[in-house]
Amino acid sequence: MVFILNPNVPKEKIDKFISDWEQKGFSTIYSVGTEHTAVCLIGNTAEVDMDHIVQTNEIVSYGKRITEQYKAVNRSVHEGGTIIRVGSAVVGEGYFTVISGPCSVESKEQICEIARSVKDSGAKILRGGAFKPRTSPYAFQGKQEEGLEMLRIAKKETGLPVVSEIMNQTQIDLFEDIDIVQVGARNMQNFDLLKAVGALKKPVLLKRGLANTIEELLMSAEYIVSAGNNQVILCERGIRTFETMTRNTLDLSAVVILKQKSHLPVIADPSHAAGIRSLVAPLSKAALAVGADGLMIETHNDPAKALCDGAQSLDLKQFHNLMEELKIRAAVEKKEM
Ligand code: PEP
Ligand code: MN
Repeated sequence: MVFILNPNVPKEKIDKFISDWEQKGFSTIYSVGTEHTAVCLIGNTAEVDMDHIVQTNEIVSYGKRITEQYKAVNRSVHEGGTIIRVGSAVVGEGYFTVISGPCSVESKEQICEIARSVKDSGAKILRGGAFKPRTSPYAFQGKQEEGLEMLRIAKKETGLPVVSEIMNQTQIDLFEDIDIVQVGARNMQNFDLLKAVGALKKPVLLKRGLANTIEELLMSAEYIVSAGNNQVILCERGIRTFETMTRNTLDLSAVVILKQKSHLPVIADPSHAAGIRSLVAPLSKAALAVGADGLMIETHNDPAKALCDGAQSLDLKQFHNLMEELKIRAAVEKKEM
């Protein structure tokens, strides 16, 4: 159940309202949006007489029952949509934010060259994997801590905030200088990891699992937000289907549904979805057209020599050209890029 509060209610009254519910055994989520402030009750609300509370409590404007299992990430809690600010970047409604960089950080020179170039092209966040979840234990596993250090250097040089994938909760301290922690597709239901990143005070990029439903993605986000961290960016990165011509199938309906069901920003990753460079530009434009709040695109200064995912990586010129096309389309959609 969510209560939308009247405007300009003094904070003490809100605190009292919240503590009264908590004393009755409910957990609460307090959400301050651009349009309204809400208090969401988590627990068995079947016995709560919502209409009575709306009529008798001076701070409550109206109430809504949330029938879905996901409560804290539910659109009803925050109709205006959550906006996430990280360094100079903004992710959320009204913006189209592109995250770009290599699959893996390979060297200081590589990440810095890519960072400078994608920044010039208009990317607002730099990506780079340091710990890589690889199907084969014999494949390149990433530069690990050294890779995080190289990302720090690229961040310092360009000013771009950085995102990198965390593989388990024992790595949390290593990510101190990483602006956004990515929970990858293979870890979407690693519930201990979700709880651990829920305790962080920084944004989490949560990727949809290879074979997970939209509702399961929302429930995984619910773990993070209900643990106290409402800065979650959802990412559709393709799901496994019977199709073999692409690495995965980019589920654009998921982008639309996630935007309808949740207040969290939603981005698409056409690179991992397609697995093929030539599909990245058309899928990027399609994601923008269906309402994604941004993209994550893999780029490389020399894709043929990339240690990971070269076949789906755009070179720096291709990325630049795509960004020019996206800027025109973002303007049509009235999104700031
Ligand atoms: C990645 O972004 O580098 C990655 C491994 O993606 P995913 O978890 O979507 O496979
Ligand atoms: Mn990759």
